[in-house]
Amino acid sequence: MRGLARRLFCQGLGVMAFSIGCRPLRPGGEIIPPDKPRGAAASGGEALVRGAQVFTEHGLRPVDIRAARGVIVELARDLQPRDGETVIDARGLLALPGGIDPHVHLSPDLDPPREPDEYCDNYTSGSAAALAGGLTTIGAMVFPDEHDDILSRIDEHTRSVHEQAMADVILHPVALTAAASWRANLATLARRGHTSVKLFTVMVQFERQRPGFTEIIREAGRRQMLTLLHCERHDINRQSTERLVAEGKRSLRYYADTSPVRSEVQAVRDAIGLSEQTGSPIYVVHLSSADALVECVAARRRGVPIYVETRPMYLYHTRARYEQEDGPLFVGQPPLRTSRDIEALWDGLRRGLIDTVGSDHAAFFAETKLDPRKSVKDYLPGTPAMQMMLPMLFSEGVARGRLSLDRFVALTSSNAARLFGLYPRKGVLRPGADADITLWDPGLRQTITRAMLRSRAGYDINEGREVQGWPVYTIRRGRVAFAHGELLASPGSGALLARGPHQPLP
Ligand SMILES: [Zn+2]
Repeated sequence: MRGLARRLFCQGLGVMAFSIGCRPLRPGGEIIPPDKPRGAAASGGEALVRGAQVFTEHGLRPVDIRAARGVIVELARDLQPRDGETVIDARGLLALPGGIDPHVHLSPDLDPPREPDEYCDNYTSGSAAALAGGLTTIGAMVFPDEHDDILSRIDEHTRSVHEQAMADVILHPVALTAAASWRANLATLARRGHTSVKLFTVMVQFERQRPGFTEIIREAGRRQMLTLLHCERHDINRQSTERLVAEGKRSLRYYADTSPVRSEVQAVRDAIGLSEQTGSPIYVVHLSSADALVECVAARRRGVPIYVETRPMYLYHTRARYEQEDGPLFVGQPPLRTSRDIEALWDGLRRGLIDTVGSDHAAFFAETKLDPRKSVKDYLPGTPAMQMMLPMLFSEGVARGRLSLDRFVALTSSNAARLFGLYPRKGVLRPGADADITLWDPGLRQTITRAMLRSRAGYDINEGREVQGWPVYTIRRGRVAFAHGELLASPGSGALLARGPHQPLP
């Protein structure tokens, strides 16, 4: 246990050990000004994608896409190759906007983890997982350091992105306290293009410092920043966990009972109330249950600006997964639920009641997650999920006819681009946008195996599943970054994106 944030969490729940990698900045090294985006001109490519069915703003069109200096310059039929262009024969493929995973956790270290309870993916391995899975932009959570200093940690992640990233990156600052300094922090962060802030209702601090957190939400809205909220009730989870321990149910096979659905429902109601009270938009991360979704839907009907993200594992797995021997690998907050919840979430995806999918990729080595000393009182929440998020959703959604291509693109790219202030640079294939293009082979069948995985964790909850539809090329700002199983990007080619204001969804 080390660092303010971890202490806060541990005081908070007395049950969790969050790995947030709190540590001082590395000495030495070049200081790159925070948020100075690497110009597309500097690192973008020249490419011509020929013959694909392209998902444009007007639907699917059989057009070619030309990218110059990383930006789309032309969408038209029968474009002819020019000198210096990478030409991609995309006949039979679908060209969709590059995927955006707005919710991941990565270590800024070059060679993580320094300690077993820290994330094992950094911006290089995380980017590899992203690009292999059709994602071109990822949103990484940044926790403050042990002095509650968020700006120095943003600087540290900025340097790591510049040195290590291959996908493009946005950073979400996390507020663990409601200290008065956060008002000034928000102004600075917004100015530097970090137009979001993440809070945790599941922390005891949220209850203790409620007026301060309410002011952070209000101030964020005033600055057109989006507040991300982890919605679970601290008191309910604590009581539930204590009950399990008293009954001798310490094993993680009982993990789902540490956080009953009503914990999420009550926290979501609270989120809705806070949005109404402040007028600020709130984005509920990793919503897991049917009942919590009902609350969000009702609030939206009343015009409350509540946005909903769900997480891939909730769409395919139930709490029964925790009873299997490797169940602890997939412990994440909130827990897996029931088949009724799965159905409701799919209904939400299809009908536009859920806005985004975010992997909440938080990877630890298997031996750490499976450590027999781990219990409902002491565990590391999080699982690797970035790489297979889109292939699974395409297969189970689009290929099976449960999701339209429009919904798939909205859920995996364009909605996140708008909500997080990237649109129309990202999230759409049109002239002027970054040439972030994922080429899908809609008929290709693949079985998910360990050998494919790019996360250093080396396991995935969907191993062994056969999927239909596969991202065969991932093009990031006009350069082929991943193709047919091969990683072609190099560390440092990813950009840190300075964002504009949060945009409401149409
Ligand atoms: Zn998370």
